[in-house]
Amino acid sequence: MGEVMNVAKIFGEDVFNDTVMQERLPKKVYRDLKKMIQEGKELDLATADVIAHEMKEWAIEKGATHYTHWFQPLTGVTAEKHDSFISAPMENGKVLMSFSGKELIKGEPDASSFPSGGLRATFEARGYTAWDCTSPAFVRHDAAGATLCIPTAFCSYTGEALDQKTPLLRSMQAINEQSLRLIRLFGNTTAKKVTPSVGPEQEYFLVDAEKFMQRKDLIYTGRTLFGAMPPKGQELDDHYFGTIRQRIAGFMKDVNEELWKVGVTAKTQHNEVAPAQHELAPIYAECNVAVDHNHLVMQTLKRVACQHGMKCLLHEKLFAGVNGSGKHNNWSLTTDEGRNLLDPGKAPHENIQFLLVLTCILKAVDEHADLLRESASDPGNDHRLGANEAPPAIISIFLGEQLEDVIEQLISTGEATHSLKGGALETGVDTLPDVKKDATDRNRTSPFAFTGNKFEFRMVGSRDSIAAPNVVLNTIVAEAFAEACDVLEQADDFHKAVHDLIKKYATEHHRIVFNGDGYASEWVAEAERRGLPNIKSMVEAISALTTDKAVKLFERFHVFTEAELLSRAEIKYENYAKIINIEAKTMIDMASKQIIPAIMKYTKTLADTVVAVKAAGGDASVQSETLAEVTALLIEAKDALKALEKITKEAGTMEEGKEQAEFFKFQVFPAMDALRAPVDKLEMIVDKEAWPMPSYGDLIFEV
Ligand code: ADP
Ligand code: MG
Repeated sequence: MGEVMNVAKIFGEDVFNDTVMQERLPKKVYRDLKKMIQEGKELDLATADVIAHEMKEWAIEKGATHYTHWFQPLTGVTAEKHDSFISAPMENGKVLMSFSGKELIKGEPDASSFPSGGLRATFEARGYTAWDCTSPAFVRHDAAGATLCIPTAFCSYTGEALDQKTPLLRSMQAINEQSLRLIRLFGNTTAKKVTPSVGPEQEYFLVDAEKFMQRKDLIYTGRTLFGAMPPKGQELDDHYFGTIRQRIAGFMKDVNEELWKVGVTAKTQHNEVAPAQHELAPIYAECNVAVDHNHLVMQTLKRVACQHGMKCLLHEKLFAGVNGSGKHNNWSLTTDEGRNLLDPGKAPHENIQFLLVLTCILKAVDEHADLLRESASDPGNDHRLGANEAPPAIISIFLGEQLEDVIEQLISTGEATHSLKGGALETGVDTLPDVKKDATDRNRTSPFAFTGNKFEFRMVGSRDSIAAPNVVLNTIVAEAFAEACDVLEQADDFHKAVHDLIKKYATEHHRIVFNGDGYASEWVAEAERRGLPNIKSMVEAISALTTDKAVKLFERFHVFTEAELLSRAEIKYENYAKIINIEAKTMIDMASKQIIPAIMKYTKTLADTVVAVKAAGGDASVQSETLAEVTALLIEAKDALKALEKITKEAGTMEEGKEQAEFFKFQVFPAMDALRAPVDKLEMIVDKEAWPMPSYGDLIFEV
């Protein structure tokens, strides 16, 4: 055994957190900063100078040589530009280490290459990063040494959001204001702030780095573009929650240690459904911190995997026929006094505030199902949502027996008089302790499930940022709260008004509630009868961003302007087209340079064998039959390759935008499938030695 890890000691040791600030900052500066964090008060430059100086001193003690404004442009990943602390040399030739308040608060990366969806063309070329003081700075240690990372938002010269963070912070303001209005109506006069709490569960795969390097599809696209199923898949369910193998355990230990040091509360780890698939979940945090931390989790998984001779793959559909990866976004609302607005308490039917919150959420999700669906779309997730894999592309809400029963009472009689109870769990074994059962079982097939005191949005892609889903959730719920408050603040008889409103919302939006099996085909038909949207792909989802309804919603709460929404839609279409283009080209490359040549070689060997066996007077019928079979598939593959080349070229000549993205989706993508089909069949019959890359079996079972 190595040295003992003291978690309590290392946790947060590389974070400029509250304890450090309290220790190091002069009292008044600390108070001003706290005011800024808690109440959004502005900071003057002199105060910022003091904070920057202390932050720098602290970071240098941790070994930092550089600082970076860490931001989240619309590329899906984070970006950073590093500056060292050194200042211009003095007369004696020495340098000082300096870091000013201005440098802390504002940065100006040369940002002209980040996607802006036309925003910068119409406005200004400049982009600024601005310190998000509500997410603590930290020092990151890696091959570059140690770097002070300052979480920031990224905006254009005229204030348009060019990133994920800015709208997220705006949406948090919106939900804060409207939640405060709502709880005031129920007599809470003391809470100062309501924040969304978010806990994302991250799924990922680990594969051996050497095998990874032998597959161009993994290198260029992050997923396999060819690959036949191994004889054993996940059918035995023996991997799910199985014992963690030693190599993986060693990896997880290092991941946890790194994450704890930078203040990420890595909490739960286990094997997932598919072989080589795992999950990591932190303890929930304030929404923007959770978004930052999820980026850190993804980066840390990747970095540490490399150190262990593995590759961590976050793609939503790494292997066809094997479980994909997602991210469950757990979401609730917490007051600064520690109350969770989504906690139903012991008797939900009597908890009027909770019932209002709940029915507002039903309304919000029903009215903006298209936006929520859009927020979870990325090219990889198209392989899961609506494509025979969980969860379905139809947004519905799972409430569970207890709440469903309360809602039904409300709808039928206008009054809820009782709540179903959980009772004790009957194991039939006397020596097992009495375990209290939850009043509601789980439903793993629902895209949006109530799980006790939070909602779990399960559609999010494993590789995607969780910013967009939370922007949508915060804003649509803010709108529902606002509309409820508009009514209730005017009411003469509050109690009657709130009852009526809850009943109204429950009745009008009950169609979004579905407690059954979301994977069953009957649900698709039933959802259609209910008029629920079933948006099957990313390109079909994007237009939800720019409907009149969406523009009105986001402008009302100052989360997005219409120009920002248009630019985001633009970026998404371009991004989709680019990704499918890379995938198609990678397939063409692999098929023409690796797979087809390997099969040609193999057919030559077969043909030679046929001749040799016949010459020796033997029976070559098996060899001949195989040769015929392989040849037929080879011809099919070659034809499909030509067709894919042609259609990809055509797509490339189109102007960027919606039409091009649709062309990639409905023309290029099927041509990719058409090439894959014969190649996967060939992999099943061609000699393993002759196949030019590691198989699914090699990748999944030999980590
Ligand atoms: P489950 O088994 O329901 O998936 P877990 O307890 O494993 O629940 O939690 C999953 C994630 O949800 C974790 O990141 C956890 O911190 C988070 N979570 C728990 N309670 C809340 C809450 N009230 N609000 C937001 N996230 C929460
Ligand atoms: Mg979960």
